[in-house]
Amino acid sequence: PVDRPQWMIKHDQLSFDRTKDLLGTGNFANVYKGIYKIDDKMEKIVAIKESITREAYTVEQLKKERESMLKEAETQVYYVHENVVRFFGVAADYPPIQVVMELCPGRDLMTHLQREKDNISVAERIVYIRDAARGMVYLHDEKNLLHRDIAARNCLIAANGYIKISDFGLSLLCEKKESIDIDEPGNHQLPVRHMAPETLKKPAIYSKKSDVWAFGMLIYEVFNNGVKPWPEDQPRKIATKIRRCEMCPLPENMPQDIKKLVKEDIWQTKAEARPSIKDTLMRVERQYRLIGK
Ligand code: ADP
Repeated sequence: PVDRPQWMIKHDQLSFDRTKDLLGTGNFANVYKGIYKIDDKMEKIVAIKESITREAYTVEQLKKERESMLKEAETQVYYVHENVVRFFGVAADYPPIQVVMELCPGRDLMTHLQREKDNISVAERIVYIRDAARGMVYLHDEKNLLHRDIAARNCLIAANGYIKISDFGLSLLCEKKESIDIDEPGNHQLPVRHMAPETLKKPAIYSKKSDVWAFGMLIYEVFNNGVKPWPEDQPRKIATKIRRCEMCPLPENMPQDIKKLVKEDIWQTKAEARPSIKDTLMRVERQYRLIGK
């Protein structure tokens, strides 16, 4: 038989019930709880993300989607960190494509914050941010990866309560250059509220510092019970505000040092002037030592 890498999973190694096991629905996929049969002796309970197949897809589009998911799989399978969702592989021999990852029973951080509201202490919020920052330091500094979609809805809560970074659908490897210019096709939904000023221009410039900007918005969400700013505004209007760096007021319960970190240091128009994610983590850890005990 032809040798397949372990991450190239076969569809018949996966079992789940589409009527009972749905965990959540995203823009392009449904996520189910299921069983992954690794071999004759071993199986694991996992999360299975299944692309929503569109009838209208051409053979060419399906081929492209398959290739991009395989490419994503190949990179992600080597990411191993306690604050990054573990990725096991992909079943892509035929549609629908299924991506297999660690099950995070606590669901996403945004839903958790919206449900628990003021039952969450400031110290716990700092821990969420610290965990997410640790995951991002790993992705930036060890893997050279730009995530490009950092937000509370893309942080998941694992069985042990750890926060884990997920959803690498928009991520890019930043191998040699410090930043990447992109002409975004205008037809896909962009996470405008989390986007840095330089990514709202043409060409959009993405860098680790634009991820840090989005991380500032994640901090905002964590202290604002999972509610994003500017609820009434249209994306175009929000984009204008961000380009002018007219940012939203910060929630009252945010500790002073964290307010300063977000408002004065992270949300700066000049990307170079922002702290790195590692510096951000250090500031959050300092805060944790102050109030975490
Ligand atoms: P999309 O990228 O299409 O937006 P998501 O990755 O956001 O899809 O997944 C949609 C929802 O499914 C999430 O908000 C979350 O509630 C749930 N989900 C995603 N991945 C997992 C996982 N590994 N474990 C548990 N639930 C998950």
